[in-house]
Amino acid sequence: MAHPRTSTPAPERDPPAAPGPEGRRRSAWMAAAAAAMLIVSGILLVRTMGGGSDAGTASRRRDVIDAETGELFRDFPIAEGARFPWTNPKTGTPTLYPAERCYWTRDGRATLEPTFVFVKEYADIDEDTTCPDCGREVVPHNPLPPEELMIEAARARGARDPGGRDPGGRDRGGRDPGGGDPGSRDPG
Ligand SMILES: [Zn+2]
Repeated sequence: MAHPRTSTPAPERDPPAAPGPEGRRRSAWMAAAAAAMLIVSGILLVRTMGGGSDAGTASRRRDVIDAETGELFRDFPIAEGARFPWTNPKTGTPTLYPAERCYWTRDGRATLEPTFVFVKEYADIDEDTTCPDCGREVVPHNPLPPEELMIEAARARGARDPGGRDPGGRDRGGRDPGGGDPGSRDPG
């Protein structure tokens, strides 16, 4: 008499030694790293090969100031190798010079919003230049105030402007969760 083999399920086994989630994550990470390295080396290759053709080398931008009008041009495009004075497109005269920045305030502190200054030395004028705002001397490649003053200025700015552009999404002035305003409808 044969035994009825009714209770034997289909052979379904879990692969016990298969690479677990940890191993899988690791190989994914390695693939990502390899892809990143490929991208980086591609960029480097393009940069090396394309030297001088166009990408950002034809002109650069800097902040310049007009020696006569005092007008500031932010990110003014300058042809590679062109020396100042550059021509002011508004007046047509070559009176644009590098704008130096003074980060001092009148009371001897630092600010993150500098005063832009035309330094006479750039125009071969043999005179010292002083900042019109704070009266300190301004020189070519004007140095920053001491680091601790700059840090203090950054802190002060953060305090003055609390979360102005903070993407942290603080709950301020939240809406009334109650919703409706019961007295708004006109009963009559
Ligand atoms: Zn100043």
